[in-house]
Amino acid sequence: MQANAQLHGKVALVTGAASGIGKAIATAYARAGAAVAIADLNQQGADAAAAEITAQGGRAIGIAMDVTDEAAVDAGTARCIQELGGLDILVSNAGIQIVKPVVDFPYAEWKKMLAIHMDGAFLTTRATLRHMYKDRRGGTILYMGSVHSHLASKLKAPYVAAKHGLLGLARVVAKEGAEYNVRSNVICPGFVRTPLVDKQIPEQAREFGITEEQVIKTIMLKDTVDGVFTTLEDVAETALFLAAFPSAALTGQSITVSHGWHMQ
Ligand code: NAD
Repeated sequence: MQANAQLHGKVALVTGAASGIGKAIATAYARAGAAVAIADLNQQGADAAAAEITAQGGRAIGIAMDVTDEAAVDAGTARCIQELGGLDILVSNAGIQIVKPVVDFPYAEWKKMLAIHMDGAFLTTRATLRHMYKDRRGGTILYMGSVHSHLASKLKAPYVAAKHGLLGLARVVAKEGAEYNVRSNVICPGFVRTPLVDKQIPEQAREFGITEEQVIKTIMLKDTVDGVFTTLEDVAETALFLAAFPSAALTGQSITVSHGWHMQ
């Protein structure tokens, strides 16, 4: 499986890696020589993704983890460290989307969004840092932000708020982690065709009273330079580059991967 060995000897924990972007990153990391823990609410999916990687000659385990559950995060992180022999890279990626106007947003759904995106990022970061700070062994933390870490769209108040919030968390971790050799960055993808996006196309069409094709053309890809979706490979390549980067020249940054939708 090892096409290159950029992450040889490293251990990565990727949350939300049973599907979509997380799975693509875990697979790319395994190809680059890392042992990967696939942490997901969906245990069956996590085990299946780990089995796919193992079948291709990589090293992976599935871990059942709800990133909003403090005890589950601490236990899952400890299991990763014990079974894979350490933890050098955390990708805090688990996420969901709920689209509604602010005026109609149920408080419970707002809190669920913030819990998964923000509390999940905090809890996994804390558990990881406690290990990385030991003996100053260092490491890298990546947060899955979004173009919505920088821009806003209608119907996405908690998502936009949480994705903006990740920039703040990443910058604090970059400052606090520096003396322990820990780097922290945010990846900000444009729209990628995963279950998370496929679910919201008909939902947005309903909310705005337009066709699904119009959602894609006039909302999702309208401001890209080429009318093309960002791909799983685009995001995985960026995650590999950031994880393998050799110095703290790249820390506290957000890298946007969006076909020019957002230019920083
Ligand atoms: P996806 O639905 O394909 O995968 C999300 C995964 O997260 C699923 O496997 C799901 O089971 C898991 N998950 C959900 N809640 C969880 C929880 N509480 N604990 C642990 N795991 C949980 O979605 P995706 O598109 O791959 O999204 C991954 C991340 O990328 C999200 O943070 C999302 O906001 C972000 N993102 C996606 C896009 C896009 O266009 N797809 C763009 C920018 C950012």
